[in-house]
Amino acid sequence: MWFTKSGRGVWRGAVSASAAACLAVTGFAAPASASSGTAPAGSPPSGQVTQLPSGNTTYRTLDDYERDMQTLVREHPKLVKPLTLPYPTSTGRLVRGIEISRDVRANDGKPVFVTVGMHHGNEWPSGELVMEYATDLVQRAARGDRYVSSLLNRARLVVVPIVNVDGFTRNRRQTDTNVDMNRNYGFGWLPISTGGAAPWSEPETRNIEWLLSTRQATTFVTQHTCIQVVLYPPLQLEVGPTQDVARFEDLATRMARRYGPNYIPRDSAHDYETTGEAIDWAYFATRGLAFTAETCPDSGVERTFQTQVVDAYAEHRLAMFEALEATADPDQHAVIEGRAPKGAVLRIAKSFNMYTQPYPQSDGTTRPTAFGTTLTSDLNVSRSNGKFSWAVNPSYRPVPPYQANGVQPNQTGFYREPWILTCERPDGTVLQRTAVNVNLGQKVKVDLRQCERNFRKKSH
Ligand SMILES: [Zn+2]
Repeated sequence: MWFTKSGRGVWRGAVSASAAACLAVTGFAAPASASSGTAPAGSPPSGQVTQLPSGNTTYRTLDDYERDMQTLVREHPKLVKPLTLPYPTSTGRLVRGIEISRDVRANDGKPVFVTVGMHHGNEWPSGELVMEYATDLVQRAARGDRYVSSLLNRARLVVVPIVNVDGFTRNRRQTDTNVDMNRNYGFGWLPISTGGAAPWSEPETRNIEWLLSTRQATTFVTQHTCIQVVLYPPLQLEVGPTQDVARFEDLATRMARRYGPNYIPRDSAHDYETTGEAIDWAYFATRGLAFTAETCPDSGVERTFQTQVVDAYAEHRLAMFEALEATADPDQHAVIEGRAPKGAVLRIAKSFNMYTQPYPQSDGTTRPTAFGTTLTSDLNVSRSNGKFSWAVNPSYRPVPPYQANGVQPNQTGFYREPWILTCERPDGTVLQRTAVNVNLGQKVKVDLRQCERNFRKKSH
C-alpha cells in the first residue's frame, strides 16, 4: 500500500490512518514495566525514565555539548574517543562528536552505527536525544551492564549531536550561508532555493559525507523534529522503492514501534517529497541502512523540554537499541576475514561517480552534474596470530535512480563492484592488492599470504 500514488494531500492523511491501524493490529508488546526490575541480562533496559541520563532539566548550549563530550572522553578513555570533523563551518566553528565502543581506540573492524542530530539548527531536541543516548551507553557500560557491554563488544557507535553548529547557535534551520543542509547532499540534488549554490557546497554537508565515507557505517540515523515518523529512502515518488525496501521497512517498523503507537515507518517520498537529503546519498553510496527519525509529542501535548526530551528519551533509547542491535547483526552487513601480519594495515576502497538530477546548467543545457564518491576505511591487524574479522558494507552497490542520462526509476539491480583491499606496511607501502566481492550476510575469506611473505622482508 505504501507505493500507491494519489493526490499528495489525500494520500498523506490516508497513509497516516492506515499505518496507524496496521500498528494497532500487530499487537506490539510494550517494553517491560519498571516493576520487572529483574529483567534478564542481555535485554534492553526497561521501565520508566523519570530523568535523563545526564540529569539535565534544560537544553544544553554548544559549550555544554562540547564540555559533556570532553568529560565522557576523560572519564572513560577506553570507551570513548573524541572526533573532530574535517571541515570548519563558514564561521570557522568545528563540528565535534565522539566514538563509543569497547576498547574504542583499537581500529578493529567492528560494524559502525552513526547517529547525528540537528541538521536543522532549530530542532534542539534532536541534539539532546543523540547526546543523552551516548551518555546512557557510556554510563551503562561503565557500570557493567551486560546488555550494553555485549553490544559495545560487537559494534561501534559514532555520535555527532550537532552537525549544523552555526544554525544551532542562532536557533535557525539553515546554516549561516542560508542553506538547508538536508537539501545540499549531491545525490539527486536540484537547485532549489535552500539547496545551496551547488551539490555539496556546504562544509557541514561535506563533513557527513566524510564521516560516512571513511568508516563502514552499516546503520545511519539522523534525528529531527517535529513529526512522528521513521523515514527511509527514496525521497521522490517517481524513482520507486529501493533495492533494500524490505530491510528498510523491517528496521523502520521496529524503531517506530519503540517510539510509540502513533509513529509511522515509511519511505521519505510518501511523507513529503524532497531532494538532496542525507539518507538518500548515504544509502545509494554505501548501502548502509539510513533513516530520518523525527520525534514529536502527541498532538495536543505541549512542547516543552519535559515532553520533547525527557519523555521522548524513554522511547528514543529503545529505538536506538534496535538500530544498534541491527548494526551488530552479521545478517545486516558483510564480513571480510583472514590472516595478515600483525602490525599491517588493511584498507578497502572503491570510487565511483554519482549524479544530481538533471537541471539547467550555466552552458544552457539541462543535464545532471556528476560528482565522485570514494569510500575508504582501514583496519589495524593487532592480534599476534594475525587473524582479523572486518564488518563492512556489501561490495554490491545498489544501481541508483539518478544517473548520467537522467532519472532511471524502479531499479532492482546491484553493481558488481568489488572492494579493492590492500595490505600495507604502517608507512603505507602496499604489499598486496586484491579485489573482494562480498554480499549481504556473507563472510569472505581473503588470502593474504603474499602480504605475509613481503611484510617479513626488509623494506628498501
Ligand atoms: Zn529537520
